[in-house]
Amino acid sequence: MRTDTGHVFKLEDYRPSDYLIPRTSLGFRLSPDATHVTALLTIERREGVAAAAPLVLDGDGLTLLGVAVDGHTLPASDYEATPDRLTILKPPAGQRFELRLETEVAPARNEALMGLYRSNNVYCTQCEAEGFRRITYFLDRPDILSVYTVRIEAPHNEAPLLLSNGNPVESGTLADGWHYAVWHDPFPKPCYLFALVAGALGKLADSFTTMSGRHVELGIYVEPGKKRLAGYAMDALKRSMKWDEEAFGREYDLDVFNIVAVSDFNMGAMENKGLNVFNDKYVLADEETATDADFANIEAIIAHEYFHNWTGNRITCRDWFQLCLKEGLTVYRDHEFSADQRSRAVKRIAEVRTLRAHQFPEDQGPLAHPVRPRRYREINNFYTATVYEKGSEVVRMIRTMLGPETFRAGMDLYFERHDGEAATIEDFLKVFEDVSGRDLAQFALWYHQAGTPNLTVRSTHNAAAKEFSLEIEQSVPPTPSESRKRLMHIPLAFGLVGADGSPVAWTAVEGAAVDDGLIHIRKRRHTVRFSGVSERPSVSLNRGFSAPITISVQQKADDQFFLAAHDSDAFSRWQAFNTLLTDALIAAFRQILGGKQPVFAARLAELAGSIAGDEALEPAYRALALALPGEADIARDIGKGIDPDAIFAAREALARAIAEANREAFLALYDGLADKGPFSPDAASAGRRALRNILLDYLSLLPGGAALAARHFTCATNMTDRAAALAVLAHRHSGTAEADDALTAFEARYRGDALVLDKWFQIQAGVPGAKTVEKVRELTRHPAFSIANPNRVRSLIGTFSSANQTGFHRADGEGYRFFVETVLEVEKRNPQVAARLATALRSWRSLEPGRQAKARQALLDMAKVENLSADLRDIVERTLA
Ligand SMILES: [Zn+2]
Repeated sequence: MRTDTGHVFKLEDYRPSDYLIPRTSLGFRLSPDATHVTALLTIERREGVAAAAPLVLDGDGLTLLGVAVDGHTLPASDYEATPDRLTILKPPAGQRFELRLETEVAPARNEALMGLYRSNNVYCTQCEAEGFRRITYFLDRPDILSVYTVRIEAPHNEAPLLLSNGNPVESGTLADGWHYAVWHDPFPKPCYLFALVAGALGKLADSFTTMSGRHVELGIYVEPGKKRLAGYAMDALKRSMKWDEEAFGREYDLDVFNIVAVSDFNMGAMENKGLNVFNDKYVLADEETATDADFANIEAIIAHEYFHNWTGNRITCRDWFQLCLKEGLTVYRDHEFSADQRSRAVKRIAEVRTLRAHQFPEDQGPLAHPVRPRRYREINNFYTATVYEKGSEVVRMIRTMLGPETFRAGMDLYFERHDGEAATIEDFLKVFEDVSGRDLAQFALWYHQAGTPNLTVRSTHNAAAKEFSLEIEQSVPPTPSESRKRLMHIPLAFGLVGADGSPVAWTAVEGAAVDDGLIHIRKRRHTVRFSGVSERPSVSLNRGFSAPITISVQQKADDQFFLAAHDSDAFSRWQAFNTLLTDALIAAFRQILGGKQPVFAARLAELAGSIAGDEALEPAYRALALALPGEADIARDIGKGIDPDAIFAAREALARAIAEANREAFLALYDGLADKGPFSPDAASAGRRALRNILLDYLSLLPGGAALAARHFTCATNMTDRAAALAVLAHRHSGTAEADDALTAFEARYRGDALVLDKWFQIQAGVPGAKTVEKVRELTRHPAFSIANPNRVRSLIGTFSSANQTGFHRADGEGYRFFVETVLEVEKRNPQVAARLATALRSWRSLEPGRQAKARQALLDMAKVENLSADLRDIVERTLA
């Protein structure tokens, strides 16, 4: 484990390395406790660097067995080796030399799951961001691009399958039952994209012919016996390959493309060149074991990792500050893919919900950072919603401003200009400036400045002058280490909506640049005047969520009700309804705190009923609209003095009011939506199930609700319905015979399938209320739970701490005490997963004073632990700062 050195890496300190490594040959002799690694590196001194410059290579916990230069063993006086660094004091005077290194690593003892490790008897690697230095000494930075040849040797019975990046070159048998395979990857790549997999795995094989006629062998490797669960992932892969050719003109470039599913994995998946390694959660699926959400995630993540082949691998990042260059862009690409495969409006709403739930709190709390950070202590902690999701929003804004054709021309230029390079955000923006002739300097602040901009909007209508005006003011709240903010360029999509729902025309506009339904906000204040507008319109703002901002609009509730029913933009219509729900929930929260029973306007429940039954809307859309804002979302919108119990009560009261007002209609709809015919994971079928399951959620609040949910559970023919019913029973009817029976039945049905039991852990960790912390503590002793497995930890501990507001924030602080114990326990093995868990406390300052003091104490308890890992200390200290 790397303990914290306190060292801060700064963007402005970047400079190219003195040496390059154009070629890398690796040899592995695999053994669980002593794998022998030989690295033969061609080292090249960069032009202009003095011959005497020492060569300093990165390591992390390495044992050096030997070092030779140009075939000669190096005397001990010529180098300095520590576990974390190897310095060749006097490299040869020539421009190029060969460095041979021998190291030994112990994959079986590697519980951090970085570098080379064993998962369920399969050897695998994870090198992003800085795991390669746990295998051999290297210039472990993304701007060192090298051509790799890899030879793997292992006992045949233990590891019949030997995989690495690139194309297979050679394989054969060796003495004593061993065998070997050689792989060569012709594309220069940074070491974080290196991968090796060895073990006994089943293969689902297929093939794909690219647009230029290249035949590509496709393989998805899973645990023996699970091959049939990889079919959906294979289908998603082939659709992704086709889509990238059509949407971006990008073709696959090797003879093989392999995906391996492993059960112990820190992240979702990893885009290693030609050999993607996946968390098995994002590969394995059928209707018996996976929900519709799982299918959608598999499709999106398979696509995401595949798309990295161009955005990330062929063009990589110059340094880790540029992480959003590959991640934000690739998230944008996978969002577009899913929108094309499914429903664009539904996908957009889901994206925005995710952004608000994960990125907004980050931006508004102590861990706020720009999409391209300027400093970090531990890069592992910057795989954040800001880099990924907000990074994607920034790319989307570029497309919104330039239009689809110019955007595509810019992307084409990016691929042409930077193929084979390690690039920067400046390079990326420059291609769009070059193809459009626009100046993106002010827009670039989206990359450089943290915080969620807010627009305050006031509208006035002067009937006599036929003039409609919008007074718009922008502000960006201060964030850590950025107290003063510069003004942003915000592309605000809008529409003026007339009384009959149709767009309102105007004759002229002044006060801001307005084009294609966009107002370009660039100053602090704009007064945008539309002339020739005789009747007062309703204004629909930030259509399609054109910018990741918050808006305080002084708009009458009547206007919101009108837009929720009539806006022609599907996203804005959802937004208007969601705003009405949020406003009602916040008012109810205040009534509850004031000791009153919350009261809701009858027309809100009526509107919910009419959206639910509107056959013109897709079922998936209706399901999303009916999903009340989450407790954390409500808390974020309230801002401070948060009492999670009062928010929970407000939300329950509104759900009940909607259910009571629509009982008959919801029941009829619910019955009509029952699945007929065989299961299909397609978007339309999934949408019908989603709508039916949210109706169940409402109906379960009414008399007979537990029985209805129990029936839903028993009759379920797929995991989506089974898990939805189980969640309703466990969350709404906790402690009843119906809930207990369903939990027992689910556990019995899936005993032995850890991945499916994760859902069972997750549902129980999410049970609202004070008793859950004891239950979660008990479940950590369940035989299927393992604190060393990231999926188990995220399902049980992650769900409890980040998705169970009333349980985790229990008023007496017991939730926090359990949390600290557990995070520290996880940290002993896996600092990265522990640090990620610890971010659950990032909004501690918004809590009411009693809980706030207890949350702070929990953070202080972690901070005072000696030898804390760099990952966890970084999060804890920034959260407290
Ligand atoms: Zn990615």
